[in-house]
Amino acid sequence: MGLKSFLVTSDNQTVKIPQYYRQAERRLKRLQRQLSRKKKGSNRRKKSIKRVAKAHLKVANQRKDFHYKTAIWLLHQSQVIAHENLNIKGLAKSMLAKSITDAGWGQFLQILNAKAASAGYLVVAVNPNGTSQECSDCGATVPKVLADRWHSCQCGASYDRDHNAARNIKYRAAGHPVLLQSSVNVRGVARSR
Ligand SMILES: [Zn+2]
Repeated sequence: MGLKSFLVTSDNQTVKIPQYYRQAERRLKRLQRQLSRKKKGSNRRKKSIKRVAKAHLKVANQRKDFHYKTAIWLLHQSQVIAHENLNIKGLAKSMLAKSITDAGWGQFLQILNAKAASAGYLVVAVNPNGTSQECSDCGATVPKVLADRWHSCQCGASYDRDHNAARNIKYRAAGHPVLLQSSVNVRGVARSR
C-alpha cells in the first residue's frame, strides 16, 4: 500500500489509489505546514486550524468512499475473499511517517468484513509469512528483497511480485490446486509493497 497500488488480486487485477485522494492528501500536508508557521493565539492561526480540520475531514471521507467502493468491487467478483492477516498496530507504528494512506488498511478490512457479513460472504485472513517469497506454482522458496518486483522460479513460474503473493494467499485459504481439487472460488488479495 502506498507504493505502487492499493491492492493486487490473485488474477492480477490492480486497484490503484485514486488520484483525487492523493491530491487531497498533498493539500492537507501543505496546510499543516502552513499552520505550523502561524503565531500562537493569532487569528490567522485560528483560521488555519479550521482549514486543516476541513481538509482532514475531506481526506477521511474520500478514503472511506474509496474503501467502500473497493470492497463492493471485490465482493462482486468473489463470495470468499482471502487476505494477509496483518498486524495493523505494528504496521501503523513502523510506517507512521510514510503516508496517511497506510493507516487506511485497517479501515478497509473492517468495511470489507462488514459488507461481506451482510451479504453472507466470507473474508478469510491467512498467515502472511513468506507470501512473497514462496512460488505460487511449485511452493519453492525464492528469496527477494523489497526492491525485487518480479517473481521468477526455476519451475518456470513468472509473475509480478504482488500477483504471486496474491496467488499464495488464495491457496492458503482454499488449498493449492495441485495438492487439492477445490471448487471454492476464492480471491486472494495482496498488499502492494
Ligand atoms: Zn516454482
